[in-house]
Amino acid sequence: MRIECIAIGTELLTTRRLDTNSVWLGERLAGLGLAFHRKTAVGDSREDLGEAFREALKRSDLILTTGGLGPTFDDFTKELFAEILHADLVEDAASRADMLAFYAARNRVPPQVNFKQALIPVGAEPLRNPVGTAPGVWWQDPPGHPGVRIVMMPGVPREMKTMWEGQVEPRLRSLAGRPVHTLRMVVCGVPESNLDERTREVRERHGHLDWTILANLTQVELLARGPEPRALESARLDFEPVLGEDLASVGDGNLEDAILGRLKARGETLAVAESMSGGLLASRLTAIPGASAAFLGGATAYTMAAKAALLGLDPAWLAQVGTVSEPCAVAMAEAARQRLGATWALAIAGNAGPGAEGGAPVGAVFIALAGPAGTQVRAPKMAGDRAEIQLRSAAQALDLLRRSLGNG
Ligand code: AMP
Ligand code: MG
Repeated sequence: MRIECIAIGTELLTTRRLDTNSVWLGERLAGLGLAFHRKTAVGDSREDLGEAFREALKRSDLILTTGGLGPTFDDFTKELFAEILHADLVEDAASRADMLAFYAARNRVPPQVNFKQALIPVGAEPLRNPVGTAPGVWWQDPPGHPGVRIVMMPGVPREMKTMWEGQVEPRLRSLAGRPVHTLRMVVCGVPESNLDERTREVRERHGHLDWTILANLTQVELLARGPEPRALESARLDFEPVLGEDLASVGDGNLEDAILGRLKARGETLAVAESMSGGLLASRLTAIPGASAAFLGGATAYTMAAKAALLGLDPAWLAQVGTVSEPCAVAMAEAARQRLGATWALAIAGNAGPGAEGGAPVGAVFIALAGPAGTQVRAPKMAGDRAEIQLRSAAQALDLLRRSLGNG
């Protein structure tokens, strides 16, 4: 089956918005044992979109589009497909009722332009949108194109995902081949190149699986796909000793899930004191539902005044040792641990740039972890821009804690 994705929206051609929808869809297709043969991003232009649709109808069996289903003048995905395929649009009563209910639940009256969203090409089926107002379209065997399926979904990622999971994937399952299973291993604190080398032998031993290594700023994912759950389990068992403590988690979770899980299991708690990372640690931890079982909170103590007021550090002493220093990070962690009565506390002090700060060069980072057996410090030198240094510092701090918690 030849499958293509057309991501629609002028914003996708600028730096303002990344086309994340097609990446997510590609991932979901892989789970069905399917893959795109082509992806396109097209602006909100009738001419360009018309061309993309006509070409797609010639070369693909399944056409997935996202975007252009809204009520405004630049949304015309359905209208254009209907025009190209010489189909009329008719109002779908259920979609109209859904829209009225959506607005009634918010105590609002739908603007008149919204009703065009309830129009569906004759011969196509509407896909309900439980989290928004624009229904999608499932159009099987459109006029003149037997065997082709066109699926139009909203651009808003949450709406697109809900529609895919509830209505599109179930319809596609019957078309897909054997389901594909995935083994996902998250590795932290190891560069991608090192991981590639270290795991080559085991990957070759499990060469019948489809392997991918995905690195980002904060972690590396090792992914294996195959039709047999038992083959994946055997790969996992072979990988564990090779990866050792560098393996942060197996399955869907990330570093923060692993940390919170281990803290909960041990009945322990965590506090943070963040200067240069500006709340990134707290933000990553609180993104996990139920984090409060182990994460108590902390301080974003960015200035010297905040370090004094929130953590009780002495400004004269700070001026002497410097706020980007090991003693400062240690004092921050110990103060947060003591003030919140936590088992552990992490602190980050550093200079993320762009200029030198109080004599500390850009990329100077001090990470302190205060715990029951004392305080440990890491002082990595980091390269990259401000955002990268902040993200990597937060990841290294979390990884330091994870390693201290062990696998138990
Ligand atoms: P639309 O359905 O075209 O009105 O899109 C609604 C919003 O969804 C846009 O303003 C974008 O912010 C977002 N969006 C549209 N397409 C994508 C995409 N491919 N990836 C991520 N976000 C998108
Ligand atoms: Mg749009």
